[in-house]
Amino acid sequence: MQNFSLLSLLRHAATGHRNWTPFWRDATPKPRYDAIIIGGGGHGLATAYYLAKNHGMTNIAVLEKGWIGGGNTGRNTTIIRSNYLWNESGALYEHALKLWEGLKEELNLNLMFSQRGVLNLAHNLSDIREGIRRVEANKLNGIDAEWLDPQGVKDFCPIIDVSPNARYPVLGATLQRRAGVARHDTVAWGYARAADALGVDIIQNCEVIGMLREDGQITGVRTTRGTILANKVGIVAAGHTSVLASMADIRLPLQSHPLQALVSEPLKPIHPCVVMSNAVHVYLSQSDKGELVVGAGIDAYNSYSQRGSFHLIEHQMAALIELFPILSRVRMLRTWGGIVDVCPDASPIISKTPVRNLFINCGWGTGGFKATPGSGWVFAHTIATGEPHPLNAPFALERFTTGALIDEHGAAAVAH
Ligand SMILES: Cc1cc2nc3c(=O)[nH]c(=O)nc-3n(C[C@H](O)[C@H](O)[C@H](O)COP(=O)(O)OP(=O)(O)OC[C@H]3O[C@@H](n4cnc5c(N)ncnc54)[C@H](O)[C@@H]3O)c2cc1C
Repeated sequence: MQNFSLLSLLRHAATGHRNWTPFWRDATPKPRYDAIIIGGGGHGLATAYYLAKNHGMTNIAVLEKGWIGGGNTGRNTTIIRSNYLWNESGALYEHALKLWEGLKEELNLNLMFSQRGVLNLAHNLSDIREGIRRVEANKLNGIDAEWLDPQGVKDFCPIIDVSPNARYPVLGATLQRRAGVARHDTVAWGYARAADALGVDIIQNCEVIGMLREDGQITGVRTTRGTILANKVGIVAAGHTSVLASMADIRLPLQSHPLQALVSEPLKPIHPCVVMSNAVHVYLSQSDKGELVVGAGIDAYNSYSQRGSFHLIEHQMAALIELFPILSRVRMLRTWGGIVDVCPDASPIISKTPVRNLFINCGWGTGGFKATPGSGWVFAHTIATGEPHPLNAPFALERFTTGALIDEHGAAAVAH
């Protein structure tokens, strides 16, 4: 029987404190898991799958406040690439890309993964220098990368305007041929189905509203569906990580921002690859349904509102027409936003925390979709063993006190 006093009941009634579980819920037997993952996006579900598959942990649950894949996993522009500048990032994203290359078979689901090549455009001298430097760094790390001149860009992507009269002339581009796109929410479903088959519980409509701790160690979570006990807890709740971490009195160096995207009406295939431009802030691919998928830059203000401001869409459209005048009469079908959490060095945090057995995976900013399999793989390792995988060791929370930052602003800050 649960312990509760009249005083605690009165305090609960008076304050309505949402971190308290009502006594009638606490009185029921509580499930206890070896591990709980908070967040049923691609990263959380991948973590659960690899915990079960790679580490034999099957007494685990994924708790999702809405529906699986309804967060950023189902809202992103699906660009997948691994051509990051620094060794640490290159290794992590390349591990993810290699997993993508076998994921359809692994999950037995058509993820519509299409390695059609990603171009990162250069519009000025500093873009060219950054691009060529990154190509060389990628090659040294065994990651495929090429530098194209404007004619090479035109050959690879015939609908782009490379004329020297353009407001932002295309002066060249990096190309990663193994990069591409996939169908976003399918990845969540694939991992969910595979994790479920291994015995993982996936609990939707279950929002975590408090953390239970004893002697500096996590012991479970309070949710809108009652208390759930656990030996270990992993937070993978993009955009909302600071809110969850604060329930365990942890402050994180993260900011939450809206990030928007939109799609056009469906068209016949006209765009064969993915084009990204950091300088004008637009990103373009074409989905298998025929819609042009158009990504934007980040909204400058902080928010949890899952939508962004209109002026950004105007800016995004202007940039799109600038690069692709052929699209000037295409109509927009729908627009949406997601909330991304951004680290000061534009790199993720995959780490232990000051609370024992509480782990975090966050800060992927505008670019975490591509990392989904790799992120799940290394986070599962971190949770199962209590120590980081060599690939995520540099991405620990301590880097903000040691100063060993992995500054990917050039390659990842706004580009997805
Ligand atoms: C418009 C847009 C475009 C993007 N484009 C790209 C791109 O082209 N390429 C790329 O690599 N990345 C892109 N990203 C980033 C990418 O989508 C994310 O980094 C990635 O999907 C994060 O995955 P996740 O599983 O961590 O997050 P999510 O899919 O958001 O999953 C987190 C889950 O946690 C749940 N949650 C939150 N709080 C709680 C709680 N208290 N209790 C229980 N559950 C909770 C949420 O409901 C959510 O389902 C884009 C993002 C956006 C918004």
